[in-house]
Amino acid sequence: MSHAFRSGLIAPAGVAVATLVTWAAAGAAWALAVLAAGALAIIGIHLWHIHLVTEWARGPLDALPPEGRGVWADACSAIYRRTRLRSAYQRDLQLTIDRFRKAAEAIPDGVIVLDAAGRIEWANPRAQAQLGLDLDRDRGQPIVNLIRQPEFHRYLDAGDYGESIVVEWSQGGVRRALALQAVPFEVDERLLLSHDVTQIEAVARMRRDFIANVSHELKTPLTVIAGFVETMQDLDLDARQRSRFLGLMQEQARNMQRLVSDLLTLSALESEHNAIADERFAVLPLVLELSAEAKALSGGRHVVELDVGEPATITGSRDELRSAFSNLVSNAIRYTPPDGTIGLAWRVEPSGCGVFAVTDSGIGIAKEHLPRLTERFYRVDRSRSRATGGTGLGLAIVKHVLLRHQAELVVDSTPGSGSTFSVRLPAKRVRLEPVADAAAGEDAPAPTSTSARSGTGA
Ligand code: ADP
Repeated sequence: MSHAFRSGLIAPAGVAVATLVTWAAAGAAWALAVLAAGALAIIGIHLWHIHLVTEWARGPLDALPPEGRGVWADACSAIYRRTRLRSAYQRDLQLTIDRFRKAAEAIPDGVIVLDAAGRIEWANPRAQAQLGLDLDRDRGQPIVNLIRQPEFHRYLDAGDYGESIVVEWSQGGVRRALALQAVPFEVDERLLLSHDVTQIEAVARMRRDFIANVSHELKTPLTVIAGFVETMQDLDLDARQRSRFLGLMQEQARNMQRLVSDLLTLSALESEHNAIADERFAVLPLVLELSAEAKALSGGRHVVELDVGEPATITGSRDELRSAFSNLVSNAIRYTPPDGTIGLAWRVEPSGCGVFAVTDSGIGIAKEHLPRLTERFYRVDRSRSRATGGTGLGLAIVKHVLLRHQAELVVDSTPGSGSTFSVRLPAKRVRLEPVADAAAGEDAPAPTSTSARSGTGA
């Protein structure tokens, strides 16, 4: 017998005893009155507690249960214990849900929950940003209204979600690419995972373009050589014609050699394993070498001027910087008509930065081309570049070398009047040196540049 049941019997037992005592002392009429009064009091107390419990049950979920009296004290404290337990359990559940939601929000990919009809139920902030979603506005919208690409609709309908699908579109003039993968869950709901692959797609496109460009660049000289070989096989040529054809074939072969050599230089520069050789070398001897090279390339058709400031040393790869500077010198000569002036200059700015500049009085470059000059195979004038032995890779090599030295290329040009290509080396790589020390730097290893081009001059 429970404690509540036993204590519930105390009041009726008390009334019964009082009734019997009254009967014995005052007779049946008084005993009946006592019994009625006792029963009414007990019923009243129970009704009052039933009222309290009903009001509590109707009230807010977090309201405390009433405190009962007598037999109701046990019942109310049992209800109180249950509600405490239940709210602790709910708090734990809410914490777990919050943690899962926070985890879903922290995922670097987009997550969208779709209902059975493909309508958006929930999306994490990454998915909202990637797809331009606003949950307040778009909740309940079919996902196909937001991602309108027909290939995505087909993918969603097909129900074969083993692979992801890449959809591309333009957002504010910028091309974006998202890899989307649906994952079924529950009975017929789906999770849609989205991953931004804009960068990966851009690299893939660049690689495709690069291969197409290289093939195209190699195809032209190869076609020319194959054509001459065929002609020489089929026709009976005299010695003068043979020598002319062989000369033309040799020129095409050199073009290919230059291209392959530039490609190898670029690939070595791009290789992550190719650490930069941080040697210290004197600038003056390097600039003198470049000036001699400029004169040899020009073959006396240009005036080559030299303007060298204070002696200094550079910390970096002498070979790589020589290759970059040499490309600028070669360009200046190839894009400057005869009798033009080529200026080579070196100075150390008050900030400590070192500047190597090549100025020419050549054909110049229109402003709209400047941002694209360092792209591989970008040429302003394709035929002039080819005619002077250009590969279209020179400035791409320059860009890579400078990137490796934290240096920048500044191009200043006026069409018809000439250009200045300046390389600005950071102060940490440049040191002003007295002449004696600078001369010591001449012990640096002999240059072995492969990418300087020996074009035929302008
Ligand atoms: P290329 O082998 O064609 O010279 P580069 O990468 O060295 O390739 O240069 C890219 C393009 O920039 C050239 O094709 C040319 O149109 C332009 N360019 C580079 N240097 C000069 C210059 N000094 N004067 C005029 N145009 C230049």
